[in-house]
Amino acid sequence: MHVLVTGGAGFIGSHLVAYHLERGDRVSIVDNLSTGSIKNIEPFLHNPAFQFYKADILLWDRLKEVVSQVERIYHMAAIVGVKKVLEDPRAVMATNIAATERVFRAVAEVRPDAQVTIASSSEVYGFNTKGGFSETDDIVLRSGARLRWCYAVTKLADEFLAYSFMYKSGINVVIARLFNTIGPRQRGKYGMVVPTFVRQAVNNQPLTIYGDGLQTRSFCDVRDTVVALELLASSPAANGEIVNVGNDQEISILALAALVSKRAGSSSPFVFLSCKEAYGMEIDEITHRRPILDKLHELTGFEPKWLLLDTLDNLISLERRRLETV
Ligand code: UDP
Repeated sequence: MHVLVTGGAGFIGSHLVAYHLERGDRVSIVDNLSTGSIKNIEPFLHNPAFQFYKADILLWDRLKEVVSQVERIYHMAAIVGVKKVLEDPRAVMATNIAATERVFRAVAEVRPDAQVTIASSSEVYGFNTKGGFSETDDIVLRSGARLRWCYAVTKLADEFLAYSFMYKSGINVVIARLFNTIGPRQRGKYGMVVPTFVRQAVNNQPLTIYGDGLQTRSFCDVRDTVVALELLASSPAANGEIVNVGNDQEISILALAALVSKRAGSSSPFVFLSCKEAYGMEIDEITHRRPILDKLHELTGFEPKWLLLDTLDNLISLERRRLETV
């Protein structure tokens, strides 16, 4: 099979590439390396089954040519991360929606039989205070100028684009609502909490807890995430469906800080920062976020294999190794 991964040099994208190359598939990626990194794909660059197109997905002149050659597309290219979103909301609005539309137009024109999986996000559940989210839950977005939600709006737009192209052009689409994903190659630069805490703990710097730390998240190891995405893409029953993808083990940010600190044997203190201090503005903090995974399980039989503890140990040892080589 020939697979196209947009945003293939990104954190999740590069794990999808590794997964498919290991299975013997051909993989092409397009990435402009804005948030993705050449380091993420370095191990594949000399693999004859791998092709890297360095281009902005909005302008890539070979999009149709490559789309016409592939059986499957994972559309992962997007601007992500709360800090990145607040830093440049105009780019988020422009890129995330237009890129998805461009990909779907190309598929409809030259490869309408391709299978497309798009990366939506748990952010679309918005300010719904329920905590455990299932796919049929209402979307609650706050009105007023809260820039945080522009990312959710783009991902919702992507979902509706997917439905429109499914309805009008008969394209096979799975919409994966990705919950917090962690693992090797994720960077903390744009706010992601786990790589930030791991770096801080290993370097004996203070762990920065935003708010009171009682907010909870459920973290899924990316090596589980890519298995779930592949299973969904291969499952005819998942065609046309919105499906939560994640791990439902829930932990408070304070407990996470304590766990990372303990596993790293760190003596770092905790510092508590208000949202304003952390992000430079007030944002609507999501107090609880946990995926309800019944649909994913029913469609694919998927069960995550990685425990949070094992991922943290793995990330701590990778960070130590990174420090030894710099
Ligand atoms: N967070 C934190 N310290 C950090 C970075 C993030 O306490 O250095 C908190 C953040 O406020 C949020 C949670 O950790 O409550 C998860 O943040 P992340 O940006 O990783 O994901 P998201 O908010 O999109 O779920």
